[in-house]
Amino acid sequence: SRRIVLAARPKGEPTDGCFRTEEVSLPEPREGQVLLQILYLSLDPYMRGRMNAGKSYAKPVELGEVMVGGTVAKVLASRHPDHAVGDTVLSYSGWQTHAIADGAHLRKLDPAAAPVTTALGVLGMPGFTAYAGLLTIGRPKAGETVVVAAASGPVGSAVGQIAKIKGARAVGIAGGDDKCAFVRNELGFDAVVDHRAPDFPRQLAEACPEGVDVYFENVSGPVWDAVFPLFNTYARVPVCGLVASYNDAGPFEGPDRLPPVMRDILSKSLTLRGFIQSEFADQQPEFYREMGAWVRDGRVRHREDLVEGLDQAPEALRGLLKGRNFGKLVVRVSQG
Ligand code: NDP
Repeated sequence: SRRIVLAARPKGEPTDGCFRTEEVSLPEPREGQVLLQILYLSLDPYMRGRMNAGKSYAKPVELGEVMVGGTVAKVLASRHPDHAVGDTVLSYSGWQTHAIADGAHLRKLDPAAAPVTTALGVLGMPGFTAYAGLLTIGRPKAGETVVVAAASGPVGSAVGQIAKIKGARAVGIAGGDDKCAFVRNELGFDAVVDHRAPDFPRQLAEACPEGVDVYFENVSGPVWDAVFPLFNTYARVPVCGLVASYNDAGPFEGPDRLPPVMRDILSKSLTLRGFIQSEFADQQPEFYREMGAWVRDGRVRHREDLVEGLDQAPEALRGLLKGRNFGKLVVRVSQG
């Protein structure tokens, strides 16, 4: 089997030298374990954070360890009573072609119910992040304005569409004409603004004539600067991700944003609340039920960006951190 390990910690954008491909032979599964063939690997922005040393909400990948990641896999051999040879499962096996996994940590997927890759996107961790973060922290009400960036991606696209289901006005921010057209026409957002436009802050203000009640923060940086003056009193800000800064090395540059931000937190009674999706795990059954129905009914749509071959994962991850992906980024590791 083949696997990609972390070879060096990146400074800024991860170079090819940060990754190493290895050929290994896997052991036989022991009692309670299964042998998996990986079909699909999810690539997600958090992976950049795991490449850094140091304490965060999750422990870093160690040098020489397999890069982490959610995967859809086929059971090749099983010593766990719940999993039969040929089953398709969701596992957390990382960047490799085969893996040994504890059968207790797998979720069985029904390929007849939905395309299996949706378990990595709209019906998986990113979709759940949108659902839990928006409904628990953002709490959009009918008629309110909800703004989200990375709006064509798996988190942002779900945030805007769930906001619409709750009767709110959804304003998306995305990079480039194709993504903006998709967000407006296919996903049905009420408005969309291109963050690369030279007059982006003015366009965003025009798209939010009644201000912003919920800003689902995915990116930070200049996008934050454009949204910040538009907050209404009692606006809620689920702080989900800061993807524009994940490759930053060294100390932060630019103006000190803290004094104006603190002033408005006070004077506008803003709520900013960071979260990691796993803290809302008790909402998962409700998510599967509700989101499953919305996807089946076509009320929540999604798009996938499929890359062929495990070898492409490093380049695809670099692209994800600068908006080269268009939809949920998934690597096809092998044919089922
Ligand atoms: P996406 O597939 O949407 O990919 C990231 C997107 O971010 C890019 O496609 C790009 O879209 C946008 N982007 C990248 N750089 C910039 C920039 N400098 N300025 C503005 N936009 C930029 O990712 P996901 O939907 O998987 O994740 C979205 C966010 O959610 C990330 O911040 C991620 O870390 C976070 N997240 C947080 C979780 C949590 O538990 N807190 C769980 C899962 C995700 P475009 O070209 O449109 O700008």
